[in-house]
Amino acid sequence: MSMEFNYHLPVNLLFGVGKAELLGKETAKYGTKALLVTGQGSTKRTGLLDRALGLLTEAGVAARVFDKVTPNPITDTVTEGVAAAKAFGADVVVALGGGSIIDCAKAIAFAFFNEGDIFDYIYGRKTGERALPLIAVPTTCGTGSEGNCFAVLTDPTTGDKKSLRNMVSVPKASIIDPALMTTMPAPVAASVMFDALCHNMEAYLSRTIQPLVEMQALYGMRLLAEYIRPALRDHADLDAWSAVTLGSTLGGMCINTAGVAAPHGMEHPASGLKNIVHGRGLAALAPVIYRESVVYAPDKFGDISRILGGTGPADFTEQLNALLEDIGLKTTLSKEGITEADIDWMTENCLKVSAPAMAAHPKVFTKEEICELYYKAL
Ligand SMILES: [Zn+2]
Repeated sequence: MSMEFNYHLPVNLLFGVGKAELLGKETAKYGTKALLVTGQGSTKRTGLLDRALGLLTEAGVAARVFDKVTPNPITDTVTEGVAAAKAFGADVVVALGGGSIIDCAKAIAFAFFNEGDIFDYIYGRKTGERALPLIAVPTTCGTGSEGNCFAVLTDPTTGDKKSLRNMVSVPKASIIDPALMTTMPAPVAASVMFDALCHNMEAYLSRTIQPLVEMQALYGMRLLAEYIRPALRDHADLDAWSAVTLGSTLGGMCINTAGVAAPHGMEHPASGLKNIVHGRGLAALAPVIYRESVVYAPDKFGDISRILGGTGPADFTEQLNALLEDIGLKTTLSKEGITEADIDWMTENCLKVSAPAMAAHPKVFTKEEICELYYKAL
């Protein structure tokens, strides 16, 4: 690992149980008219949306709710969100929800100033230098989107799922309240926390790792390895939820600098094509990919294995499978809706949308090997 690095991640993290109460005050620092981006589900059911609107009003911030975001957000929703923000005259964006919500809110804040096809920016054909300020309030502990600039979007016309990566999209502030995570249904919680663990593992294994990321990834993996099971067992255990939530934020921060590796690189084509749950796609792919990768980075896989409760590189996949078993996440791509007929498209698409992630993995797989891995994960 090189000791020469550049580390820049300008987000104010307000972390802790009860911090959600700061939403109004924090938002008022950046604007007076907020587009509040959320989904159709839990924020309404739990009363969180109403609470957030109350806090904004108290702080003198007018708000307009945009609740059209769906899981694996698509570019059309971003266009709709920008129109809503412009019609309202928004000068700040608040994201209240899980990773899809925060990603979509980032893209809305960015596309507010940067017109045209957002995939031109995603593929680097155009650049943007401005975005509306964003305040992120995550309600799931998985993507870590609150700690990075990534906005993963899917283009419904091509099936391409790829992240917009522009440092102007780093949230100004992220209010991370572990108490908000406790209302997730157990299967959702299991899949998002496995996603968080993957971010930390992939960053740790990445060829582009640097010292500050190594610190974050090691601590992130420890927190998740120790507390995923206790958090799932007891939704009232706020210490456990605080630990997994911090592990998730750290994972998001890690990948901002080190990027992801092969599991995410190969998962995006699957969820881009079939709209499957990201954490479940990772659960189907990660053990298969890692089984073929351990010999290329035995020291690092040994470290992760010990963190997961194992003894070294030899029992890494065993530990990973035991965790997936314990949290009810053992699955395959076919159980998630992928068929043999999809594999050629996914292989091509993986090389198209995930080239940097595949190149950062300890073993750089050939096209034939990627295809074979998809078959093994079926
Ligand atoms: Zn992820």
